[in-house]
Amino acid sequence: MKKTDEIAHNLKEVKKKIPQSVTLVAVSKTKPIEDIIEAYNAGQKVFGENKVQELEKKFELLPKDITWHFIGHLQRNKVKYIAPFVSLIHAVDSLKLLKEINKQAHNHNRIIDCLIQIKIAKEDTKFGINPSALSDFIQSAEIKQLENVNIIGLMGMATNTSNIQLIESEFNELKKLFDQFNHIKSFKVLSMGMSSDYPIAIQQGSTMVRVGSSIFGARNYAQ
Ligand SMILES: *Cc1c(COP(=O)(O)O)cnc(C)c1O
Repeated sequence: MKKTDEIAHNLKEVKKKIPQSVTLVAVSKTKPIEDIIEAYNAGQKVFGENKVQELEKKFELLPKDITWHFIGHLQRNKVKYIAPFVSLIHAVDSLKLLKEINKQAHNHNRIIDCLIQIKIAKEDTKFGINPSALSDFIQSAEIKQLENVNIIGLMGMATNTSNIQLIESEFNELKKLFDQFNHIKSFKVLSMGMSSDYPIAIQQGSTMVRVGSSIFGARNYAQ
């Protein structure tokens, strides 16, 4: 198989395991434009990136009907570069970041959809807010004043482990937390699951999976 045929083939295989109701974000970080075009030509329109400069460049070069998600840790001073076009920011983990997104969205006359990143993994991870802190976070008076951001749900990452029970229980915990807030009208997205664990995440109630290497192949960070 040609490398490009491989991407279309992988995409098809991944889609077979994902119900229509679940959104597939194809994580194209580190991958060249040609690879993204191949997935695009095979019907994929939603892509995820985790570096601001890389996302900006790809946005410039690629078709404008692509929906771009920012999936990684976002630094406040870089929000301005993606604010004109980003469609969903997955990993908001502080009020300061949310305020900056709100400010930049306002500058561009937009309302930007955001997910709150929740720390569910038992392993030490730097990012995400604790499940027990979510209620206060969402109900804070300050958040309610932010008119140019729309919090549409939660995002989380399970522990990187072969222990399936642990992954299941972490995703289940996030799903329960998500359900506690389903009275909030805007809450509709639960972003959990990547190449190694998206079938488990879907079983546990994920509505959006972020799949990279299973579509594009392993990443080579050295290049
Ligand atoms: C890289 C990345 C993914 C995709 O990882 P794969 O294992 O390649 O599917 C998903 N979510 C986040 C936040 C990532 O940084």
